[in-house]
Amino acid sequence: MSELAYPYEAPASQALFDRAAAVTPGGVNSPVRAFRAVGGTPRFMVSGTGPYLTDADGREYVDLVCSWGPMILGHAHPEVVAAVQEAVARGTSFGTPAEGEVALAEAMVARVAPLEQVRLVSSGTEATMSAIRLARGFTRRTKVVKFAGCYHGHVDSLLAAAGSGLATFALPDTPGVTGAQASDTIVLPYNDLDAVHAAFAAHPGEIACVITEASPGNMGVVPPLPGFNQGLKDACAANGALFVSDEVMTGFRTSRAGWFGVEGVVPDLMTFGKVMGGGFPAAAFGGRADVMAYLAPAGPVYQAGTLSGNPVATAAGLAQLRLLDDAAYETVDAVSAQVQGLVTEALAKEGVAHRVQTASNMFSVFFTENEVRNYEEAKAQESFRYTAFFHALLERGVYLPPSSFESWFVSTAHDDRAVQRIADALPAAARAAAEATQ
Ligand code: PLP
Repeated sequence: MSELAYPYEAPASQALFDRAAAVTPGGVNSPVRAFRAVGGTPRFMVSGTGPYLTDADGREYVDLVCSWGPMILGHAHPEVVAAVQEAVARGTSFGTPAEGEVALAEAMVARVAPLEQVRLVSSGTEATMSAIRLARGFTRRTKVVKFAGCYHGHVDSLLAAAGSGLATFALPDTPGVTGAQASDTIVLPYNDLDAVHAAFAAHPGEIACVITEASPGNMGVVPPLPGFNQGLKDACAANGALFVSDEVMTGFRTSRAGWFGVEGVVPDLMTFGKVMGGGFPAAAFGGRADVMAYLAPAGPVYQAGTLSGNPVATAAGLAQLRLLDDAAYETVDAVSAQVQGLVTEALAKEGVAHRVQTASNMFSVFFTENEVRNYEEAKAQESFRYTAFFHALLERGVYLPPSSFESWFVSTAHDDRAVQRIADALPAAARAAAEATQ
């Protein structure tokens, strides 16, 4: 009875999900993939080409998730694939230093001015965990300031969240994180410099670092207000703490030099992942050489990894960074602006209250008419409208993040055909959002 090109049932994905649920908690290896926020059957993908993903039922989607950021050149870019094939043929892991690690580190240092030295790791979580340990080791202090709504991976001390108000000691946000770990974390509202100053005043000489997403994308896209990041940097400098900018999501995406390239605020330490791995598990932390000198084997702070600087991952990351020239960023920015415009047009036509918020080419849609500046405001949106919007687009072959608290991502591969598919799907999705009820 459906005239849709993408009938909604997904029997092959459902069968795989049932199999997965028997052997993996919740049927997935990372929670948000399970569609719990939007309901329905998660799509099991079998291949990706350019801007498209194809699922186990043989349906093709325009991908607006891009593996949560890394695939900025689209899927299976021929030059990245060739670099990976060449690297694999030479061996997949040596457990010794290799030139690829040096070349990737050099490429990163060349693009991001505050990055004097980097250490390669395998995930963004490992990068932030290690950066926090290094900040504590360097300052010989214990407390860490983070912001509600900022995600830095599943590091124990950084999973403490919420707890509004000034300098609140957070409670563990998940079983398994001890009270001691959480009590060294101070969670503050995002974009609130007064709260930061109050925290430093309440804990003199105790705060090792302030960690923030360079421009948050994990509560939807909520960019820093003008002067916020500089204010964090200044507060840290005035109080002997380190300013840690988490660029795992923004790094090499929001510009050649990530969010640093957009705003120019110089952090003491930075963390990276996603784009720099070219779709493989590669991540990094780095920054001031005098701070990085505290890391083993040069210094006393221990950090290590069997697969750190893996030759296949570094080959993929390096190939991707080499292709990311100014023209590539112009393309990604232009596609992003185009999709934002289409979304606004469709939702406005149906009279749906919404805000498209942007941070360079990262963007997300909040179903509210108010500006969203922090996590509390993000949570005040009408998320039920997103659920309807998401499913209407999924049915029509457009794959959005399965949560209203995530950034959307595009790539250089999103060409006119892909954008047209989004444009064709949007009117019905906007109608679904307008008609949605809680
Ligand atoms: N930091 C930020 C800003 C992130 O967005 C993420 C993941 O989405 C992480 C850290 C953790 O990275 P990973 O998932 O590679 O552990």
